[in-house]
Amino acid sequence: MSSNHSKMENEVKTAELMIDIFCHGQHSRRDGLCPECRGLLDYVRLRLERCPLREDKPKCSKCSVHCYKPDMREKIRAVMKYAGPRMLCRHPILSGRHYLSGE
Ligand SMILES: [Zn+2]
Repeated sequence: MSSNHSKMENEVKTAELMIDIFCHGQHSRRDGLCPECRGLLDYVRLRLERCPLREDKPKCSKCSVHCYKPDMREKIRAVMKYAGPRMLCRHPILSGRHYLSGE
């Protein structure tokens, strides 16, 4: 149970970090997130919390549930593309592998 929770926490943190990097870089935010990015983060968090597959799911990119709405999926994809490589440099521990490659 607790490992489930910590994995979820980790995924949320990773998403948070990526959206943060994206918003700072793309929307010139110094602190906090712009409303759009905050909305995206809320959406991602909700999806992660409600994902019916949870621990068993392969990777979101291969997830059979396809829980992201198309427009949100486009947004998060843009965020990953932008923030992924940057995050690997800045935060080697929280690598974006899970989100990036779909391996
Ligand atoms: Zn933003």
